[in-house]
Amino acid sequence: MPTSPFMSLNGRVVPYAECTIHAFSGVVKYGAGVFEGLRAYWNAEREELFVFRLKEHLDRLRYGMKVLRFDTVFEADFMAKSLLDMIRANALRENAHLRMIAFLDGDDELAATGPVGLVCGAIPRPPSKAVLDGVHVAVSTYGRLSDNVLPPRVKSTANYVNNRAAEMEAKRNGYNGVLMLTGQGKVSEGSGACFFMVRNGALHTPDVASDILESITRDTVIQLAREMGMTVIERTIDRHEVYAADEAFWCGSGFEIQPILTLDRLAIGTGTPGSMTRDVQRAYFAAVEGRSNTHPDWLTPVWAPT
Ligand code: PMP
Repeated sequence: MPTSPFMSLNGRVVPYAECTIHAFSGVVKYGAGVFEGLRAYWNAEREELFVFRLKEHLDRLRYGMKVLRFDTVFEADFMAKSLLDMIRANALRENAHLRMIAFLDGDDELAATGPVGLVCGAIPRPPSKAVLDGVHVAVSTYGRLSDNVLPPRVKSTANYVNNRAAEMEAKRNGYNGVLMLTGQGKVSEGSGACFFMVRNGALHTPDVASDILESITRDTVIQLAREMGMTVIERTIDRHEVYAADEAFWCGSGFEIQPILTLDRLAIGTGTPGSMTRDVQRAYFAAVEGRSNTHPDWLTPVWAPT
């Protein structure tokens, strides 16, 4: 699926082919970048495109720039305008995945802190088959990065060397995806999503100290599930508990909510999408598509800003 014709570079809308940086910039040499993957959903009835939880994504991006000690931490308003201008230039009226990267530009040494650039792009995304059908997952032989190595809660470009290695291993072995464990052997997260399981009628998810990204979708699921009366427990989870789970699913902006059917070829529950997973999916899509009005602050309209 190709990136849309217009992108945004340092606050300016530019054609895709002109969205370039130097090959010796800090992000290329040292992986010095932080990024966000967001989604926008088209609501045909309201004739509006909604960016989901833009504020929270921009907060996390600013946090990442601060931790990487970039000498510019872009204002949220500037980043929001860059993103929305780009979406409007592409006349997007369909579901899309949005990517923003704040990166170290220039051609300097390892400890350089600027200049800092910002790039935004959009990729139209049709509904995913995995959301409907579910996925098969393997535990990775690669351990998850830890907080005092490359902090997983900072969504830095460099971290994804770890995710990529794990994902490629899983795909080579015929799985759809991968579950990574912490250095202590506890359940952490996937290559691009956080993990939930159902045991004894409650939702369980690794706590934020389990070397996970502090996922915005995870927070969304926790809130929506509690509003539906479900019990949600954030805690350390053992690998072998997952084999005993009744249901499991991934959550992430890109992944959305994907049922996990098997882990290491052992069926989770019946090996089919579970009823609590389906309930979470229904609530999630109603929220992101702007069909439920319980959290209007989560939605940024693109075409009729208020
Ligand atoms: N974990 C990892 C490693 C991810 O890359 C992502 C995707 N950003 C997530 C979790 C889910 O985060 P979010 O819900 O904020 O998209």
